[in-house]
Amino acid sequence: MLLKHLADETLVNDAIIIAKNEREMTLLMLHHLKEIEHRKLYSDLKCTSLFDFCVRILKYSESSAYRRIQASKLITNIPEVGDKIINGSLSITNIALVNQYFKENKIIDTEEKKKILGEMENLTKNSCIKKLFELSGKEVHEGDTSERVSQDKTKVSMILTNETILELQKLKELLGEELSNDALIKLMVKTTIEKVEKQKFKVQKPQSRLSPVKTVRTVNNEVKREVYLRDKKCTICGSRKHLNYDHRVPWALGGGSSSDNIRLLCSNCNQRARIRSKLNFKSQSLEQAFYSPDYFQNK
Ligand SMILES: [Zn+2]
Repeated sequence: MLLKHLADETLVNDAIIIAKNEREMTLLMLHHLKEIEHRKLYSDLKCTSLFDFCVRILKYSESSAYRRIQASKLITNIPEVGDKIINGSLSITNIALVNQYFKENKIIDTEEKKKILGEMENLTKNSCIKKLFELSGKEVHEGDTSERVSQDKTKVSMILTNETILELQKLKELLGEELSNDALIKLMVKTTIEKVEKQKFKVQKPQSRLSPVKTVRTVNNEVKREVYLRDKKCTICGSRKHLNYDHRVPWALGGGSSSDNIRLLCSNCNQRARIRSKLNFKSQSLEQAFYSPDYFQNK
């Protein structure tokens, strides 16, 4: 593209049009994200969340993904935000900051949200942060972030309350030894996993081998233990969050509660499975379509 031959005025006007097109495309993307979240479609692509989908499939940076997801949540609640994105008076960055502010300050009233959003129009990021600080007396942050610094290390920045910091200090003192933050978190995670596994998945208490498994809908502790030790995570996307025991063949259709018909699913994949069964999904799955060689040729 030989732009050097364009007149000054044309070059500037073109840039203005392109910027507006970019904002329109951004808004279109936010609506797509909203609908994808509603259908939990990312589960079909083995993504653990909308954030995971934005980073791995859409190739956004973590901070871009975070901002877009925050903004997509806000346009669900306040559709007028879309017009402000198009005319450029509200940036995605400021929308994400304001949505974080709503969350932290538990603001749920739509009219109050609209009023605060109005005050943030045409502000730079720093001015927006300053204005939000003036409103509540508290700093608003962009949420927790992480950045891979080497093959096996990630730098994590997170916001903790002073109460949590004091509790961490207390734990360090109780342990009575100098632990690095990494070692302390590893210890806390290990202890919590053991506790959750014991309570939720019954991994330490096998029950009678003669428990009925075929005639009842509920999954007994023995089966739970066997399934958990076998699957350990969501059998579709690999997430370890919000796991549930799911009947592969629904109980209503004759599926039993023995381990071969029970699997671990996270809540997102569970919801997606229900949506798919409601739609009576007969065509090939999104995952198959996406990765088939024909997919890109037909685009
Ligand atoms: Zn899952």
